[in-house]
Amino acid sequence: MSQIIAIDIGGTQLRAARFAMDGQTALQTRRTSTQGDGQTPFERLCDLITNILPADQPVAGIAVAAPGPLDPYNGIIFSTPNIAGWENFPISAKLNERFDVPVWLGNDANLAALGEWKFGAARGHKHVLYLTISTGIGGGVIIDDRLLAGTRGLAGELGHVQIMQGGPLCGCGQRGHLEALASGTAIANFVREQLAGGEKSSLSRRAQISARDVSEAAQQGDALAIHALSRAGEHLGQAIAGFLHTFNPSIVVLGGGVTQSGDLLLAPMRRTLEASVMDKSFLKNLQIVPAALGDDAGLMGALALAHTMLED
Ligand SMILES: [Zn+2]
Repeated sequence: MSQIIAIDIGGTQLRAARFAMDGQTALQTRRTSTQGDGQTPFERLCDLITNILPADQPVAGIAVAAPGPLDPYNGIIFSTPNIAGWENFPISAKLNERFDVPVWLGNDANLAALGEWKFGAARGHKHVLYLTISTGIGGGVIIDDRLLAGTRGLAGELGHVQIMQGGPLCGCGQRGHLEALASGTAIANFVREQLAGGEKSSLSRRAQISARDVSEAAQQGDALAIHALSRAGEHLGQAIAGFLHTFNPSIVVLGGGVTQSGDLLLAPMRRTLEASVMDKSFLKNLQIVPAALGDDAGLMGALALAHTMLED
C-alpha cells in the first residue's frame, strides 16, 4: 500500500514523518536543523526526505506545511523570514522534480487547523475557527468541512486583522494588528515598555523578557504581568467576536505556547468575547477548547492535507 510523507518546515527545524495511507500514527519520524553543514535548506530538506522514504512501498505524495505567506495552488513559498533565499520559491515543483511524486503545500497555521479538524480537538465539527498564539498569531478556518483558502490561497491570516488604529507595529509592517497586541512578542514588548515608563514589577531586574517570563511572573502574582496577559486576552476576545460574526463556527481551537498561560489570558478573553458579540446566539453551544496536536500540528496538518487531496 502507498505511503504518505508529511513535512513541517520551521525556521530552526525541518521535521518529516511517514504514514501508511490510512494511518494516523507515524511509521517513522525524523528531524534536522533547517540550516547547517554548508548545505542549503532545500538540500537539507531533500536529504531528510530521502532518509525517510519507504524501502519497498510506493509514495502517494509529499505534503508540506510551511510558514506563509505562500501559494498553495501553485506550490510557491512567497517568503519565509527565517530562511534566506526562499523568495518566490517553487518548492512543490522542485520536490516533484527530485522525487517524482505529487507534492502538496499549505500554510502551517492553515494546515494546523485542518489537522485539528481531521485528527484533533475539532473532530466532528463542520465549522472551525483555529488560532495559534505564539511569537506570532496564525489562523485557519474550516467552513462546511473545507479549509477556507481564498482566491490566491492566502485566507485565514487571522493575526493580521486591525484591532487598534495606529496601534503597535506588527511583524508584517502594519500597525495595530491582533498579532501586535496579543502575541507572545506583543506581551513581552508591552511589559518592556511599561517598565521603561517606570512601572514596578518583579521583571524589572531582567535583562531580557520573554512571554514565558511574563506568564511565570503573573502566576506568582506580579501585577504588571497579570495586566499584560489580561490586556492581550481582551484583544483576543475582541478579535474572536469579529471572527464569530464572520464565520459562525461551532468550535474555537486555541493553540500555541501563549495559551499555556491559562485563565490569566483566557478569562479576560471570554469576558470580552461575551461582551462584544452582536447577538448571544453566536455563543450558543460554542466550544472554546485547547488544541490537541501540540508540536505535531504541522505534521498532522500536512497529513490531513494529503488525505484531502487524495480524496478529491
Ligand atoms: Zn500584521
